Amino acid sequence: MANPMADEMRRFKGSDEKNPFEAMSERFDRAAQLLGLDPDLYAVMRVPSREIKVYIPVKMDTGHIQVFEGFRVQHNFARGPAKGGIRYAPDVTLDEVKALSAWMTWKCAVVNVPFGGGKGGIICNPAQMSEGELERLTRRYTAELIDFIGPDKDVPAPDMNTNEQTMAWIMDTYSMHARHTVTAVVTGKPVALGGSLGRREATGRGVMFTVNEAIKRFNLKPQDTSVVVQGSGNVGGIGAELMYDQGYKIVAISDIFGGIHNSNGLNIPEVMRYLRDNKTLEGYPEAEPVGNKELLELECDVLAPCATENQITSENADRIKCKILAEGANGPTTPKADKILHDKGIFVIPDILANAGGVTVSYFEWVQDRMGYFWPESQVNQRLEEKMVASFNELAHYADKHQVDTRTAAYMLAIDRVAYDTRMRGIYA
Ligand code: GLU
Repeated sequence: MANPMADEMRRFKGSDEKNPFEAMSERFDRAAQLLGLDPDLYAVMRVPSREIKVYIPVKMDTGHIQVFEGFRVQHNFARGPAKGGIRYAPDVTLDEVKALSAWMTWKCAVVNVPFGGGKGGIICNPAQMSEGELERLTRRYTAELIDFIGPDKDVPAPDMNTNEQTMAWIMDTYSMHARHTVTAVVTGKPVALGGSLGRREATGRGVMFTVNEAIKRFNLKPQDTSVVVQGSGNVGGIGAELMYDQGYKIVAISDIFGGIHNSNGLNIPEVMRYLRDNKTLEGYPEAEPVGNKELLELECDVLAPCATENQITSENADRIKCKILAEGANGPTTPKADKILHDKGIFVIPDILANAGGVTVSYFEWVQDRMGYFWPESQVNQRLEEKMVASFNELAHYADKHQVDTRTAAYMLAIDRVAYDTRMRGIYA
């Protein structure tokens, strides 16, 4: 299926402002400088530990072989195994995967789970591939990485265009090589195969928990809070459904093709049903159509970009009208836009906190797999809430104490934790 809006949303090549690794590095540098980070530690932490590039031959349904390019970047192991998703996309780049892997390191540190950061990507167009082709691609990619992944080495998870089925194939391929079933090699698996209850909803639920905390700063209750959500997948769609259930007024939501808007509030369960039936939001009766760009500029209390990188840039930041920006996506805001949002007084829940619910429940899944003892969903959700609320408050307190914006505070908190562990471990020579 051609996907013009996705191309439009994701295009960042050739633009300095939009190179994700540079955006990550700029924030890292600023936080490191404010922390007075030791130059030796700075040199170690600024770069990934390992960048792996693989060429993946796949027998396509035509009988011919096509060779795909794939990556796995392991950014940091100071606090535990590398952890992070794998994305399948036609325009995924090594720079993007590098940035995403570093964000995983900082994200895991912000919520204080004992993982480093990693991320994977394969340049492919899953919408144009059959199930069989995707399975063969996934299995061969796993086989190419077999020495580098594992429950104590690097634990992949779903990301854009990968899902529970992808994780089941990776788990099976890894297990076939190990000659026994190793569930803890990936998270985000089907529940029947060692997955965790609540994992699928965890990123959206985590966004909601941080928004619940942020609105208190504005003396708002969910019923008085209007929310605009960009994206309707695993993060945006589920986040919108959960917030709707809590009484939030969701006034706009979008998919890759465009969005819908109703200032009186949308009936989100109906919207999601419409999306499932029609594979698009276009034509939804009780709303006005709105483009993905215009949607970001709507009047609202909470704006939750839950799609992809570089949605809020120096070009549109001054037209953003929310009080709270809840970054469900990784890297939706550029550093230039940060400054504009800060000057406008917008309270940012930075991505490395706002969307950390997914990796937090991935941690719970990994723990459950290793114990061989599975928790009820209520326990997963309660522990997730405790983690997200505690991390939000720690971050807000840190920002107030150090008189910095919340994004800088998140990086400072994370870098400080990773630096401490790196210093204590020392450098092996
Ligand atoms: N891909 C998700 C993220 O960006 C989840 C990663 C994980 O659970 O390891 O945070």
